[in-house]
Amino acid sequence: MSRYKELKERCYRSNMEIPEKGLAIYTFGNVSARNPGEDVFAIKPSGVSYDELKPDDIVIVDMEGHSVEGDLRPSSDTMTHAVLYRTYAGLGGIVHTHSTYAVAWAQAKRAVPIYGTTHADHLAGNIPVTEVMSDQMIKGDYEEQTGYQILNALKDQKLSVEEVQMILVASHGPFTWGSTPEKAVYNAAVLEELCRMALFTEQINPDAGRMKQALIDKHYMRKHGKDAYYGQS
Ligand SMILES: [Zn+2]
Repeated sequence: MSRYKELKERCYRSNMEIPEKGLAIYTFGNVSARNPGEDVFAIKPSGVSYDELKPDDIVIVDMEGHSVEGDLRPSSDTMTHAVLYRTYAGLGGIVHTHSTYAVAWAQAKRAVPIYGTTHADHLAGNIPVTEVMSDQMIKGDYEEQTGYQILNALKDQKLSVEEVQMILVASHGPFTWGSTPEKAVYNAAVLEELCRMALFTEQINPDAGRMKQALIDKHYMRKHGKDAYYGQS
């Protein structure tokens, strides 16, 4: 029996949540999963639709994207995931989708402003967007460079991957992450909803403006601060 059986099944279940949550059609999107401290991760195979996907199809790759176990080719986005896992030891799951509202903001090349408490419950600032990739990056190892473009944006904007677990790659779409694949999928669904709400907010009132800081602090800190009291402890 494969030593990666459990990781593959967990990765499979998380991938299947993508169409279930309405975040992708056909083969769009991919979820990867890693056990903390391990130097391999599990990822969806390339070009396999969700209704055909089976747990055994999940591919195990090393941090260079080379297949360690599995008969199918790993997702074409594997190297983007690998760059993020190599950089951030705490990541246990990464999700990439082309969900409609998140892609709309990515194509508009705009960070998503923090307009309300639903947003502030998840992050204390705007949802970041990367710069558009340079010709050199695009012509190089494109998927790996996409990972570096995400790292550049996080570094330039002084964001930590613990506090900000979602980003839009300009002209492309969203990547989200978390300490587990389940959390990364949750973040992908939340991101899509926040993008949808922000779009409607701007349609109703283009001058809505950033929500007030006291309200951001209240909502973010009650869930994530050291004295967090939201939910059941
Ligand atoms: Zn993509």
